[in-house]
Amino acid sequence: MERAHSLEALKAGEATRLLIDTSPDLREQMLSAGVTSIDGVAFTHAHADQAHGIDDVRAFVYRRGARLDAMMNSQTQSLLRARFGYIFETPEGSGYPPLMRDHGLEAGQTASIDGPGGKIELSLFDVVHGREPCSGVRIGPLAYTPDVNGLDQKAMQALSGTSLWIVDALRDKPHPSHAHVNLALDWLSQIKPRLGVLTNLHIDLDYKDLLERLPEGVRPAYDGLQIILAPSDGALIDLSRI
Ligand SMILES: [Zn+2]
Repeated sequence: MERAHSLEALKAGEATRLLIDTSPDLREQMLSAGVTSIDGVAFTHAHADQAHGIDDVRAFVYRRGARLDAMMNSQTQSLLRARFGYIFETPEGSGYPPLMRDHGLEAGQTASIDGPGGKIELSLFDVVHGREPCSGVRIGPLAYTPDVNGLDQKAMQALSGTSLWIVDALRDKPHPSHAHVNLALDWLSQIKPRLGVLTNLHIDLDYKDLLERLPEGVRPAYDGLQIILAPSDGALIDLSRI
């Protein structure tokens, strides 16, 4: 997620960049998107496909010369610290500095990441994702829930007023820890964002088929999809491929 003072500044790369999750293909994704700096990280949860590219932030930390602040719920914090302790603290006997400063963020609390484009304010909210403690992320007009199969009233409140909601839709059949297409569409019809984007699409969903059958205002995501929103009112300015 990027924030910039103007569209020109955004195009010139003068933006604050918040990375949400460190997927295993993080290096390739950053290279193909031309991202050369990041200012902070948020984790939705500790599953391997969300977190195990965590070492790829090292190059960004070298460049900025300082640790990255990383926001996550306290359960995700415990899980990531148990698996990747060296990311957050120098182990005894090691000379390598840590890469991130972790912050446990409770649901509804707000945190901010500062950078060249100004502050990005974010909050996390609890979502159901099978048995895994998992958060959705709300940043002004944007909400992101990549892995979710249940939303309680508090989560729906956290999502209300969203202009762009990027939401899990794994497949057509129901799944024990992910939303299926009709469940995601049902939630979208309640929240009514200007644009709903279905993500986490599995191999049994076809992009073109989805594009044809999804209702107006909902579309499937693809790698490299770039969406530009006006920070003032969340109006959709542009939707394109990076
Ligand atoms: Zn997951």
